[in-house]
Amino acid sequence: MRIEIVRGDITTQEVDAVVNAANSSLLGGGGVDGAIHRAAGPSLLAECRTLGGCPTGEARITGGYDLPARHVIHTVGPVWRGGDHDEASLLASCYTSSMALAREHGCEVVAFPAISCGVYGYPLAAAAEASVGAVRLSGEKGPIECPAIVRWVLFDRACFEAWQTALTAR
Ligand code: ADP
Repeated sequence: MRIEIVRGDITTQEVDAVVNAANSSLLGGGGVDGAIHRAAGPSLLAECRTLGGCPTGEARITGGYDLPARHVIHTVGPVWRGGDHDEASLLASCYTSSMALAREHGCEVVAFPAISCGVYGYPLAAAAEASVGAVRLSGEKGPIECPAIVRWVLFDRACFEAWQTALTAR
């Protein structure tokens, strides 16, 4: 499995699946969630309405509609509450659940945003470390190498630098 990081807007990614940092209603929000819904069109919200929400740390998959991506994987990151409310394992679980869905649906290239690093307030260095660790682990666990490429699409420079550090840390 190859891990890549780029700066940019995840809604323009031509990949098998983009991951959405959703809230537990799955009915849309601000940040990357708002951008994905705007770019995918109203059919995405219509499909999300049938799902009945999603607990923190889990993931659900839908079509990509007007996005260049075939699928959207919606996952609900933890709100940062100081670090001793299971945030790290919930964040890792977002990635593990998203990777499992991507594999089930034969997605070879998957793009992630920096889950929980916007309004949910997760400190960037800690988020980057937990995120990269979780993806590496679930990449190793797979029976086949799928997804083959995991790409973080990082909107802001501070996130990009945090991910760069985490990826070169070992
Ligand atoms: P959360 O509620 O999980 O914190 P946010 O959407 O507020 O989710 O932020 C998550 C990250 O996504 C932030 O780093 C934010 O800058 C970034 N982001 C916002 N819009 C986009 C976009 N179009 N493409 C990629 N990342 C984005």
